[in-house]
Amino acid sequence: MIPTCIEDKPKLEPVPLIIVEGFMSSTGSTTLWGDFEQSLNRSCKGKRRRVMFASVGPVSSLHDRACELYYTLRGGAVDYGEEHSKIHHHARYGRTYTKGFYPQWSHEHPLHFLGHSLGGPTITKLQFLLKHRYFDPCDHPNMMLSVNTMSAPFRGTQLVYTLGERTDAAPAVRPLSIGSLLAKWVHVVTFLSPFLPDALDLHAEARTLSFRETSVISLLKQLWKSDWAEGRDAAPFDVTFEAADERESKFEGEAFSGTFYRSHAVCMEDSSNTNSSASLKSIISLPLYLTSQLMSSFNFFELQPKPSFLECLYPDSGLGEEYRANDGIVPIFSQWHPLPCRCLHLACELDVTTCKPESGVWHVNQVEEATHISFIPFWTGSSRQKQFWESTGHWLRVIDSTRI
Ligand SMILES: [Zn+2]
Ligand SMILES: [Zn+2]
Repeated sequence: MIPTCIEDKPKLEPVPLIIVEGFMSSTGSTTLWGDFEQSLNRSCKGKRRRVMFASVGPVSSLHDRACELYYTLRGGAVDYGEEHSKIHHHARYGRTYTKGFYPQWSHEHPLHFLGHSLGGPTITKLQFLLKHRYFDPCDHPNMMLSVNTMSAPFRGTQLVYTLGERTDAAPAVRPLSIGSLLAKWVHVVTFLSPFLPDALDLHAEARTLSFRETSVISLLKQLWKSDWAEGRDAAPFDVTFEAADERESKFEGEAFSGTFYRSHAVCMEDSSNTNSSASLKSIISLPLYLTSQLMSSFNFFELQPKPSFLECLYPDSGLGEEYRANDGIVPIFSQWHPLPCRCLHLACELDVTTCKPESGVWHVNQVEEATHISFIPFWTGSSRQKQFWESTGHWLRVIDSTRI
């Protein structure tokens, strides 16, 4: 099927695309992301699709990130919710966006979304909040015309335990672990935030942790034990299997009939294969090779509470390969989609020109021999990377054409 090119129709603007970045990533930088828009808009001669990088907290919880995403688009003061802010001991309101990127965002004027890593569950969290009209009585899940994800930890990842989260008492963090050091870094950055550049913006206004709002003594207390990082309202806890099970018990992540869903589940090659791929040879991918090994040998059976996927195991049966195979950060099964399979797993990988989008169901593309960062966010200009963006552009145009 050749999609109608909505860009060629002067009165119809292509539905804009909102990009939500992952954990510790909040650059919105075209220097880093490169000229992906060239590939995204390839084969359309008319108006280019508007693309916006969402401004959300790089270490914040899914709830806080989803609230920030909403107000980035609609404009206004970020409202985290009265009940939520009381439970998690932070201010109800965050920063104010005097002008939203897309103030008309509504059921009639929907948007496309693309999430990398933690950006994926941030988007599905927002759709869950839209369903419950958390922000506005007129909100509706169909305000999301499509959701594209790459390497998203919808159902958690064992890496968070490897890095420091306690397997028996999350969200507590083991002392002197990488997670513990990261928490200390976050507090120091937040304390000094009035002096620091935007690249280190952690969106922490509601937590009043900068030197203008708190004392050095309070900072030292947080460095000893962080209320934020060792709480349930932070990104690390949200990627535990426990938090994923809590979300799914509320049917968070369900697919809605008016939204087109597609995920890219990325897998590194078998570690026993000594002929490492080109991507693994790059220095930036070497840490992922190490974390991939640690993830594949992780002991799931020491987790308390027991993850729901272990409850379903027959005695003496082992876990499927999808729980151990990973992209260096997220196991394959978690990248597919939220909730158990009611989806379509495709074999067309990055070439989706033969795969017709379908609303209300996840289309899962498995991508072999790549890592968590092979396609996003670092631009390398590889043919595979260009193919990903071209196929995404094609997929979005097909969906746009259904609205003409
Ligand atoms: Zn919060
Ligand atoms: Zn599935």
